[in-house]
Amino acid sequence: MSLALPLAGVSAACSASEGAVGGAAPGSGTQGASGIGDPDFPEDGNGGYDVEHYGLKLSYDPGSRRLSGSATVRARAVQDLTAFDLDLHGLTVSQVTVDGAAARFGRRDDELTISPVARIAKNARFDVTVDYAGVPDPIRNYANLGTYGFIATPDGSFVTCEPNGAKTWFPSNDHPSDKATYAFEITVPAGVTAIANGELAGTPVTSDGRTTFVWRERHPMASYLATMTTGRFETRTGESAAGTPIYAAVDPAFHGSLDTLYTKTGQITDYWSTVFGPYPFSSTGAVVDDYAAGYALENQTKPIYGGFAPDSGVMAHELAHQWFGDSVSITRWKDLWLNEGFATYAEWLWSEHEGGSTADTVFRNYYAKTADSMWSYPPGRAQRADLFNGSVYTRGAMTLHALRREIGDATFFALIKKWTASHQYGNATTEQFVGLAEQMSGKDLSGLFDAWLFQPRRPAAVA
Ligand SMILES: [Zn+2]
Repeated sequence: MSLALPLAGVSAACSASEGAVGGAAPGSGTQGASGIGDPDFPEDGNGGYDVEHYGLKLSYDPGSRRLSGSATVRARAVQDLTAFDLDLHGLTVSQVTVDGAAARFGRRDDELTISPVARIAKNARFDVTVDYAGVPDPIRNYANLGTYGFIATPDGSFVTCEPNGAKTWFPSNDHPSDKATYAFEITVPAGVTAIANGELAGTPVTSDGRTTFVWRERHPMASYLATMTTGRFETRTGESAAGTPIYAAVDPAFHGSLDTLYTKTGQITDYWSTVFGPYPFSSTGAVVDDYAAGYALENQTKPIYGGFAPDSGVMAHELAHQWFGDSVSITRWKDLWLNEGFATYAEWLWSEHEGGSTADTVFRNYYAKTADSMWSYPPGRAQRADLFNGSVYTRGAMTLHALRREIGDATFFALIKKWTASHQYGNATTEQFVGLAEQMSGKDLSGLFDAWLFQPRRPAAVA
């Protein structure tokens, strides 16, 4: 994610499946835990199963702001289950089935607890279908995170879910450590465009004044990167020079920005493919809506820009996230610097590529700010109540530059490609990054990472 505000040095912008991440309250016996194990967000996600696929049939009416849905969640049990939770905020559930049989269910806060008629055996695959409807209620200022999730707009919806807003529009295992593939079947009034992740499957079909858009994201995706942004949009599609399909869309208020948005998205996607490794997804894109969020979010395959036409630095940030955050996802929120440090560093690399300030100059400009508040906030330990602190971005990026100076350009850029390749479509941790950097450089880097990521003070100058 990135804020649409200029930072020092260069212009800047933005902004998380393999089961438990440790430390969560375990479920008792055969009851799946109500959280997946992230100590900073103990009720996020759930235990006892791993989601493989979400099949979401959704219908939205911008006039009444009513959403109705039928979500089928295909999962694999990682323990015997007599009951388990999905995350769901607001909305009214009318029916739940497990493998086609009606199941009992209950609500408590943002937990939907489901009790199937028969025990689900460990390792069994099962399908849960939840029918629900209502007016979505976005999350407001939970842990000082502002407003996010499903946000109604005059002509549709603006949907940005980092860190845990997917539950405002579909029942989910709402934590980045459980990634899954998605299919979206979204029905809206004729004339409204529905945009989700991945690629359109066929031409949208209109009947009785309603149009259904079918989108499929075939690569694993964290729940916070899912979107169903709807409204009036002008679109342009095609391919980048390197052959990656592009889908660009702008609210008519940004009519004049569409061609630049489309062209730059293709150019930047292609350039990052030479720096970070092959583009991980089947298409790239961009969406500009007229909702004045003041930030951008790296929704998988389709970064969204909330109420502004992005400059190329912001786009470089969001598109870098397709590698760092979207393909290689964090396992727990405290490691957010792995997303934002890389995406911010990408802005500096893009500036240098465009003939602006070099990454080294940007680094030195920030380092010279001896009184900056980032020195008291260790970026390697993002804090729940201040998750998107500037230190996670800027000092996170500085950590990468300090590392680059220490191990040299050749090893550094080989490390980045090895990192994106070895954790592609998966999850990773700071410890794994440090381990890989030490392995590839043959150096003990514990002092460097400790000083830059974990100490509440300005590190010593780099060579
Ligand atoms: Zn970001």
